[in-house]
Amino acid sequence: MAKKRKHALLSASGAVQWIHCTPSAKLCDELPDTETSYTQEGTLAHEICELKLTADSLKTGTYTRRMNKIKKNELYQEEMQGFTDQYVDYVETLSNSLPEKPYMAVEKRVEFDEYVPDGFGTADCILICGTVMHVIDFKYGKGVPVNAGGNPQMGLYALGALKAYGFLYPIEDIFFHIVQPRLNNFSTWKTNKRELTTWGNVVVKPKAELAYKGEGEFRSGEHCRFCKVLNCRQRAYDNLELLETYETKLPPELSDEEVGEALAKAEQLVAWHKKLKSYAQTKLIDGGEIPGWKIVEGRSNRMITDYEKMADVLEQNGYPKETLYERAQLTLTDLEKMVGKKDFQTICGEFIQKPNGKPTLAPESDKRPVYNPKTTAAEDFK
Ligand code: SF4
Repeated sequence: MAKKRKHALLSASGAVQWIHCTPSAKLCDELPDTETSYTQEGTLAHEICELKLTADSLKTGTYTRRMNKIKKNELYQEEMQGFTDQYVDYVETLSNSLPEKPYMAVEKRVEFDEYVPDGFGTADCILICGTVMHVIDFKYGKGVPVNAGGNPQMGLYALGALKAYGFLYPIEDIFFHIVQPRLNNFSTWKTNKRELTTWGNVVVKPKAELAYKGEGEFRSGEHCRFCKVLNCRQRAYDNLELLETYETKLPPELSDEEVGEALAKAEQLVAWHKKLKSYAQTKLIDGGEIPGWKIVEGRSNRMITDYEKMADVLEQNGYPKETLYERAQLTLTDLEKMVGKKDFQTICGEFIQKPNGKPTLAPESDKRPVYNPKTTAAEDFK
């Protein structure tokens, strides 16, 4: 009997990986799920988004009851309200900018099985107005900014949405939107029905067929970031090959072109080292062996188990209580958590300033504009 799945083998969120490295999907499917508190936090934030976007269709009591239930979740944080408000504002502003009230689907299951065997996923929000369709994805993560441009996850959702609504609406222009409020990343990209379906047929379909059977070639790259195969042979091979790129000949110093290349390669090595380390650590803690390595106790700092009780004892020993405590300011994040992001901005906005950031090295593909050395921050840095 076929294994019952909660998730598609070839998921939309994993598409960037299985399109680039087709055999990885089956390999990852054999490994245990690694749901972290970050993914659970993301799921909770998505629940809030859904609730807020569908609030108009709910009775007040139902809305409040559901929101209170969410708030009882141990991963709930007050700041989620501000970030999910930003997403809802984004969707509403987009919706209001359209010539007429669009059709809206929230948390819509879409099927893209015409291109991907058993392919399905859940699109956070779809807006359709005349010949235009908007597919919007909320990302709660704050690891790396996600770009909407040519994004395969969005592409698959859009193909699924075309299947669901293409016969009802004359959809031609399609927009992908990524809303990632914790990184202040709001990314948009435009394509059209012809380009999208061509991509589906020419790129996705053949790759999906290979991936579904676990065939094709292993290929390492940026997409390995979220792969569950921590001890991947191909990645090891490719990364170690990088080390042999430079011949140890004169001149003794690398050219600036070589430095640029080496930096990009070193980034890959660092990311790979992190995964390999995590694999070895888990194996050893579970009682396995990795030749040449062991688990030791890490460095730890002394800590006070109960400050208040200790302060009482110190007071009894002649140290006045006021000398044992300091009045400390709350951090900006803590204040925002306490007051709520929106209210805090309204009440205290005039006291908040964002200085220019320090010059930071970034690859050319980074979306931020090139640093302007004439700014004050440049002077500070000097
Ligand atoms: S780590 Fe290995 S299996 Fe995973 S995507 Fe990279 S090359 Fe493919």
